[in-house]
Amino acid sequence: MKILVVGSGGREHAIVDALAQSSKVRKIYAAPGNAGIREQAELIPLQVDDLEGLVQFANTNRVDLTFVGPEVPLSKGIVDIFRKHGFAIVGPTADNARLESSKIFAKQFFKSNGIPTAAFSECRTPAEAYDAIRRFNYPIVIKADGLAAGKGVVIAEDANQAATTIQQFMESRSLGEAGSKLIIEEFLQGEEASFHVFADGLDFVPMVAAQDHKRRFDADAGPNTGGMGAYSVDTILSSQQQDAVLNQIIKPTLKAAGSYSGVLYAGLMLTPEGPKLLEYNARFGDPETQVILSRLETDLVDVLAGIAEHRLASISVKWRKEAAATVVLVAREYPGKVESGKRISGLEEAKRIKDVKVYHAGTRWHDGHVYTAGGRVLNVTARGATLAEALERAYFVAQMIEFEGKDYRKDIGKKGLAKQK
Ligand code: AMP
Repeated sequence: MKILVVGSGGREHAIVDALAQSSKVRKIYAAPGNAGIREQAELIPLQVDDLEGLVQFANTNRVDLTFVGPEVPLSKGIVDIFRKHGFAIVGPTADNARLESSKIFAKQFFKSNGIPTAAFSECRTPAEAYDAIRRFNYPIVIKADGLAAGKGVVIAEDANQAATTIQQFMESRSLGEAGSKLIIEEFLQGEEASFHVFADGLDFVPMVAAQDHKRRFDADAGPNTGGMGAYSVDTILSSQQQDAVLNQIIKPTLKAAGSYSGVLYAGLMLTPEGPKLLEYNARFGDPETQVILSRLETDLVDVLAGIAEHRLASISVKWRKEAAATVVLVAREYPGKVESGKRISGLEEAKRIKDVKVYHAGTRWHDGHVYTAGGRVLNVTARGATLAEALERAYFVAQMIEFEGKDYRKDIGKKGLAKQK
């Protein structure tokens, strides 16, 4: 089989790596890919939102199956275009991807289908928003309606901060059109969890749960980021919580969506009243994918082909009992402006460490060397019999790799370890 993977981050490297393990795969292409992906796939210089270019590439190169990593091409209708041209692709249509691409659409959907979520107000004008912030107790959560690459959610501690956010999002348009409408919602207390499912429009298969670390610094301090690390272990959700997620959140969603196909990722808050849905993403999370796929025992190609051919129910998807953890190595200034182009060393030595994979996120290959190319640089991902063992291995390799300005959180998985005591 010839497979095209759209995207260029750690998530896509983990996907390419899982596909490369399959004896059914003859060739992998990645558009545009990165320095790590290039070891297992041919890199295609097409951007993820060049939908016409991608479909033409699939046609010329007789690609059998395409998998889409990021949300932007999904929200722009890559799945619709590929299907129109008769090419197999895994992901939701643009219509179904609105569960991620419009927070207003999503919250209305949760409400009309009785899915537990934070109480909210929809605000279509600044006047409505200034009015709404008077009706909630603080802190409140302000969310831009559209896709904002992780910058569209602000937790406002008081009315001043709330008003400033409304001014920036709606009036100054700091996020462009994405902030022209808002959701203002109740702040929920609890621990967060990421719950993914594979869906083929008819059936679904749950994946193992994961927990992400969004804040930049240890002890969840500092600004929000794209993700500083993640872990996956069977104790993240109790069986009661897992049942509640499946019965109150996932099943009603897929029933109401009708034909959702691809990966659906529920961002959950585990509140004292039970799991509540913060948001949906219409694709795999990053860095959750890195830990989830390292626990997948079944051939990923079988799962993806099962989705594309609407026969997921016939596939027995198996997961390893082991735990997995990933530590994201970033450039020190991240999530601020970073200086790229720093040479990375230690990658070859890291390949020799058992049960550890170093997935590339922001890297570039040049003249036989790998250089940093972005804020999140590498994801050191490890498996272990226990979470403690997985973390120990990941941190061991995180120390081996060097580049100027390297930084990482030292407390990934700490909450998971505490829960097991
Ligand atoms: P979202 O993009 O909706 O997942 O929001 C990004 C992050 O903001 C989440 O991962 C949470 O940490 C936080 N967040 C969003 N909504 C809420 C809420 N209602 N209560 C508390 N925290 C929230």
